[in-house]
Amino acid sequence: VGAYQDVEREVRVKYCQEQGVEIGRRLSGGGVVYVDKHTVGWEFIMVRKDSSNNYNNQLVLKVGKGVAAGIRKLGINAVYDESGIITIDGRLLCHIHVMETPTHILCEGYIPMELDIRSLLRNLRIPTEKLNNKTTEAFKSRLASLRGTRGTLLVQTIQEALTEGISKELDICFGPCTAAKALNHITPSQTNIENSVCSQVGGTMQLRSRLRGQDRELTVTLILDELGATIKSASINGDFYVDPSFTIANLEKNLVGLTAKYECVDPMIEICLNAAHITGLTVENFRVTIRNALEKGKLILVGADLHEVSDMYCVGGLMPDELPQLLQSKSFACLLPYCAKQPKCKFRYIDGCGCCGRCDVGEAYKLAEQHGLHPITIQNYEMLEAALHEMKVAGYSLFIGTCCEEFIDKHYQDFIRIGMPGLLIGIDNSTCYELGHELEAHRGIFENQTKLKLDLLYRLIKFAH
Ligand code: SF4
Ligand code: SF4
Repeated sequence: VGAYQDVEREVRVKYCQEQGVEIGRRLSGGGVVYVDKHTVGWEFIMVRKDSSNNYNNQLVLKVGKGVAAGIRKLGINAVYDESGIITIDGRLLCHIHVMETPTHILCEGYIPMELDIRSLLRNLRIPTEKLNNKTTEAFKSRLASLRGTRGTLLVQTIQEALTEGISKELDICFGPCTAAKALNHITPSQTNIENSVCSQVGGTMQLRSRLRGQDRELTVTLILDELGATIKSASINGDFYVDPSFTIANLEKNLVGLTAKYECVDPMIEICLNAAHITGLTVENFRVTIRNALEKGKLILVGADLHEVSDMYCVGGLMPDELPQLLQSKSFACLLPYCAKQPKCKFRYIDGCGCCGRCDVGEAYKLAEQHGLHPITIQNYEMLEAALHEMKVAGYSLFIGTCCEEFIDKHYQDFIRIGMPGLLIGIDNSTCYELGHELEAHRGIFENQTKLKLDLLYRLIKFAH
């Protein structure tokens, strides 16, 4: 897992534990990598003589070219693209991962000799929003491997070719590693793991916001004190690269103790990030994500408990401080996911509910109807889009819905495009993304049953009346 990534979000931890798959955090930034016995990994550390900002980019460029040249020696047409990626015939082979301290630079990469896509998809939480509605087959066709391209190749042959390619490009000879000790004091976002554990503690407010709709990931989690006034801990995760690599740990540390108001936090973001070199994201991306996390604190005004706000998502342009007024306008509808209906219910694949009391949807229907709201069960994405357009035309000012966070990630831009403001509440139980059935869900044929947060839904509807 990359230095700044959230383990739980990237890896199916329980499944890995059951399968005996170890999870390790890299010192370098970037995304998660699945490494098995068919992977050749390489890593080297260099003493840094020049601390100029451009050095990192120049080095990655040289290493990338060296790795690609080494692979070409194997008769495979590998190309280094300047975004830090090596491809074969347009398909991704590997990333060059880097981390820097003021005195050293570490470079590493993991090259698949063979691809075990099935295991990869089962062990990792592949960010399905990045698949952009394409199938797993399409995902597979975007990845390359050495043996998949050129048949049998011995590990030693690959190692020799890589060593030669990198040595020539950098004009160096490899010797024993002597710099590892110098890197010991760097602990890039080890705190991420601790913070996500600490975020489970009750009685405090956890505010989580994710930057959506970008190629790179960024999630900010802030934990406030019992009064919701001061930041007690901060965790910043994502698959970006940052130089110097202690920048994020420094920002996390400096956010602690600040008043949980954007005016108080913004200058610290400026101080900690402005001199840093961030690849893949901008300082503004960090600023907006941190501000959105703080804004989520306002959701308690509509009856949410401290621990519930991070499971509530504003979409379609809704701002948390507009919510009380929009709820009280009473002009809203209630959207419910079909995956919360009993799999054997005759209403599972059609809109409606007989309110037989055998699942949460029945309770939600009763609640909505008692308060004069129009409940709709959403059967598939097309139906959701049509329902949102109809609400817009009918003059509704808001919708309240319930669905999984992965669905929001995937369709965040669609909500913005449609422009119908909405508040979405997360669901409990394994979702179709967790189980790897998102395509079935998209078509409306997912068979698991999820649970609604009925109590929170009840409080929101009560607030409106
Ligand atoms: S409450 Fe409604 S959706 Fe749930 S099982 Fe009964 S009829 Fe089906
Ligand atoms: S995406 Fe899947 S789990 Fe999420 S709300 Fe839709 S059907 Fe349910």
